[in-house]
Amino acid sequence: MQRRFLTTFKTPIKYVKIYTLSSFLFFFYFAVHPLEGMSVTTEHFKQKILEIMMTIDKFNFAGKKAIVRVDFNVPLNEEGKITDDTRIRGALPTLKKILADGGALIIMSHMGKPKGKVNAKYSLSQIVDAVAAALGTPVQFAPDCAKAQEAAAALKPGEVLLLENLRFYPEEEGKPVGIEKEDPAYEDAKKAMKASQKEFAKTLASYADCYVMDAFGTAHRKHASTAVIADYFDADHKMLGYLMEKEVQAVDNVLKDIKRPFTAIMGGSKVSTKIGIIENLMDKVDNLILCGGMAFTFAKAQGGKIGNSLVEDDKLDLALEIMAKAKAKGVNLVLGCDCVAADKFANDANTQVCDDKNIPDGWMGLDAGPKTREEFKAAIKGAKTILWNGPAGVFEMDNFAGGSKVIAEAIAEATKEGAFSLIGGGDSVACINKFGMADQVSYISTGGGALLEAIEGKILPGIAAIRGDK
Ligand code: AMP
Repeated sequence: MQRRFLTTFKTPIKYVKIYTLSSFLFFFYFAVHPLEGMSVTTEHFKQKILEIMMTIDKFNFAGKKAIVRVDFNVPLNEEGKITDDTRIRGALPTLKKILADGGALIIMSHMGKPKGKVNAKYSLSQIVDAVAAALGTPVQFAPDCAKAQEAAAALKPGEVLLLENLRFYPEEEGKPVGIEKEDPAYEDAKKAMKASQKEFAKTLASYADCYVMDAFGTAHRKHASTAVIADYFDADHKMLGYLMEKEVQAVDNVLKDIKRPFTAIMGGSKVSTKIGIIENLMDKVDNLILCGGMAFTFAKAQGGKIGNSLVEDDKLDLALEIMAKAKAKGVNLVLGCDCVAADKFANDANTQVCDDKNIPDGWMGLDAGPKTREEFKAAIKGAKTILWNGPAGVFEMDNFAGGSKVIAEAIAEATKEGAFSLIGGGDSVACINKFGMADQVSYISTGGGALLEAIEGKILPGIAAIRGDK
């Protein structure tokens, strides 16, 4: 933390204003709080610096051109029509503030995984009308994101330009194309790509006077438009957008500003993909529910018979370690005790409720059983901070969605009683939407991987770039 903080000052001219102001704050603080003396840590000093960094609210966009990285990677149907416009709606507060101030907007995004090649299927031209309708103003389109100099230069205050898919250029992601990692020439190719990525980011930066990062969904990637571009703007001309601010605040609510009891619910298929988060949460939560497919790895680790249930045989020791850690830290670990088992992986399978450590051969646990659901409810009831990532069963099939529904209902109930509840990660969001309960929780994150990395305690590159961290 401290090392990262200090690197901020490697470019003194760029940060001279911040340095002067922050030094003032630092000495002012000591003058006002002399008794706290050395307990005033770098953390506090850093906090003060963050307070004086540019924010979208403080910035007046009048007469300025702003290039905004959004996440318009929206799902399209066969006819190229948007089937869910949540991401477009999510970016509107930022985009509208810029226009309302009298700024001109250059919007950039990726869509899908075109792997560095032009592919009409992923063209952002398909969403121009939807963006225009959402903004209530015409939107121009630049068919080549790296050749939009003229269109950007011609933009007048209040006008909007949408750039074509950034990922039509491999430079956006910065990975060398057409060469395997094992190839001896790979390292040179990577270096060359990093150099052209900088050029690409510089080109994008040249279109505008300021940069706004509002794509939380890709904030965990160090891509040209999410991080590298920030190097071409000084600290007063780059900032996070409203959506990013909201996401960061939501994560802070569950990681820093914790109201207790804190219950985290981790579900889904595998313990291996969530281990970083589980470990980070272990120091923070009062109750930890581990459910879904991953629960059977725990059942087997304890000597249970799990039939054909999902299991990660190489994670049995890890499961026991997690159980021991929870015990040592006084965390109430809820693993459940029964399940709904099925004789095939299908909604119309025959089912039976059984002990989760005594599943008959040929059967598989696909949902939490009734006693387990009661344990879930008890651990969620009365909680004041709740985090949910990953379903408790194969919720996509109606007959195995019951355990997840109980969780969603218990969260809604606790939220009504004043808890802060954060739901994130693609499947739990799909789950809460399936139950029509999205408006009964405090916050639904737009980020999948980004949210998980933030909860793991990692600094996201998209945020670090704005704050000047390296
Ligand atoms: P993840 O991507 O790891 O968050 O896992 C989400 C997926 O886990 C969903 O598609 C669920 O259908 C699946 N899942 C949840 N519980 C089970 C289970 N008991 N057996 C198999 N898959 C499950």
